[in-house]
Amino acid sequence: MPALSLIALVSVLSAVFAKQLDVHPPQQQHRHWAQLCSGNPSNRIRGCDRYGCGNFGASRQGGKGERHVGVDVICADGATVYAPFSGQLSGPIRFFHNGNAIDDGVQIRGSGYCVKLVCIHPIRYHGQIQRGQQLGRMLPMQKVFPGIVSHIHVENCDRSDPTPLLTPDVPDVPPFPQQDIHWGTVCAGNPTNEIRGCDNYGCGYYGAPRRGGKGGKHTGVDVICADGATVYAPFSGELSGPIKFFHNGNAIDDGVQIRGSGFCVKLLCIHPIRYQGRIIKGQVLGRMLPMQRVFPGIISHIHVENCDRSDPTGNLEKGKGRRK
Ligand SMILES: [Zn+2]
Ligand SMILES: [Zn+2]
Repeated sequence: MPALSLIALVSVLSAVFAKQLDVHPPQQQHRHWAQLCSGNPSNRIRGCDRYGCGNFGASRQGGKGERHVGVDVICADGATVYAPFSGQLSGPIRFFHNGNAIDDGVQIRGSGYCVKLVCIHPIRYHGQIQRGQQLGRMLPMQKVFPGIVSHIHVENCDRSDPTPLLTPDVPDVPPFPQQDIHWGTVCAGNPTNEIRGCDNYGCGYYGAPRRGGKGGKHTGVDVICADGATVYAPFSGELSGPIKFFHNGNAIDDGVQIRGSGFCVKLLCIHPIRYQGRIIKGQVLGRMLPMQRVFPGIISHIHVENCDRSDPTGNLEKGKGRRK
């Protein structure tokens, strides 16, 4: 074979090989998708609100056994949306087909994935986008569904469950092998430590933007708790306090710190039975203060903040639905 055609053959082969690499890059590079929405670094999924639940397979009203074939990633109205992986855009993708304020979206195909992101307005409907690059903006969902936990509907093109790709890795070995990394129930009536979604005053997840704050972020997690409900110690430790947040003597300006079992946390907007001494996991710690008096219509909640201001979400989840 003449040298020239051998070179030509090699270059054709390598072009084909390179093309295949484009379509299927090494999976170990990114086992999970990148952050989708500003203010929600862990791609937290919408819990339940009066319109339904955000998890994959949740039942859908009006549907004879219909199921939610996507996952709802929490995203505040107007927030910036990012590409979860690199790929090719196409669209528009519509869900409602009625021209309402949130009837827009886009598809991304690439990096071995294909997903539809709905209820967002993309910067464009065609062309290539890179993982992490700005993709668009969250549409005003509150206008269409007042009081809903605003979210991006994320749906795999083959309608499979995208949850594992959205969830960041959980370490296989807990940091404290002898101890339970999951805290106990914090508030009576909320056995799973369900976190406040979004209401008129803001959102309850860690890192949510805070108004009036020049780029201020929520440095805790808001665990839903009805006014007057009994509050329990999430782990055993030593109490100290009082811990105040507002420093204005309003009806909810009280709280306590617990340090022990490898943790340190502040529980705010509760009145503890005492400010000093030891407490055992699950023991009555106090009572939820009347938050409705100060913030009418808010989802009443205990503000739970790690002493080092790190994210306590993983500890509050009680091991439910967490993947290994
Ligand atoms: Zn959805
Ligand atoms: Zn809070």
